[in-house]
Amino acid sequence: MLFEQFVFKKVFVSNKQFVFNILLGHNKAAHSPLLVIMDIPSKILETAVNEIATLPGVGKRSALRYALHLLDTSDSDFAAFIGALTRLKSDTHYCSRCHCISDTPLCPICSSPKRNQKIICVVENIQEVMAIENTGRYNGLYHVLGGVISPLDGIGIGDLTISQLIDRVAAEQTEEVILALPTTMEGDTTNIYIDRQLKQFPDLKVTTIARGIAIGDNLEYADEITLGRSIVNRVPFGVI
Ligand SMILES: [Zn+2]
Repeated sequence: MLFEQFVFKKVFVSNKQFVFNILLGHNKAAHSPLLVIMDIPSKILETAVNEIATLPGVGKRSALRYALHLLDTSDSDFAAFIGALTRLKSDTHYCSRCHCISDTPLCPICSSPKRNQKIICVVENIQEVMAIENTGRYNGLYHVLGGVISPLDGIGIGDLTISQLIDRVAAEQTEEVILALPTTMEGDTTNIYIDRQLKQFPDLKVTTIARGIAIGDNLEYADEITLGRSIVNRVPFGVI
C-alpha cells in the first residue's frame, strides 16, 4: 500500500462515525447538504470527496458515501480498485483505425477477419458501439467520432475524427457508411456535414439508421415527427 493510501485509510476510519452521525442528523450543523460537506473533519477526505464528485451524475453526498465505502474495503480490494483506475489511463488505447477504446493499438473489431471491412458505422461514442454490438445484428466496422458538432458546447469539426473518417473511406475503399448519430439537432448537423464530405466518393452508399416507432409503443402517444418518419420510411411486412 502506498504511504498516501495508508494515511488516507488510517486517519479517517476514526472519523467515520462522526461523519455518519452528521449524515444521520445527529449533528445540529447537519441541516443542509452543504453543511454536511463543510463539516467533513478531514481535508484529505474532503479532497477525495471533491474528486469523486467530479464524476458525471455523482453529487457530494454520494461521493462521501463512496469515499467511506473505500475506507471500509480490505487493503487488497482497495489496491485492486486503485490499480484498475491507474491501468485505465495508462494501458488503454484509442484504436488507430476506428478510435474506439481498446487494450491494443488495433481493436478486436477492426482486427477481426470475420467482420465486413467494407461497411463503416459512424457513432458518437464507445457506448453506441457497445449498444449496437449487443444487438448482434451488425457485422461491419465502426468509426467513433468522439462527439457531435455542438458550437454551444465548444465542440467543432476539428475536435472530432471526421477527417480521419474521410481518410479511411478513401484508403479502405469503403462501400457503405452508416450514420448512427443521435437524433438531435447536433447529431443531424453532424450527419449533414459528414454526408457533404462523403459526396467526393460517388460510388459510396451513405445510409442512416431508421427512425420510427419504438417496440411496444402505442401510435397515439408517438410525436408527429417520429410517426411521420415511420410512415415515410415504411418497410415490407416481415422485414425487421
Ligand atoms: Zn477499431
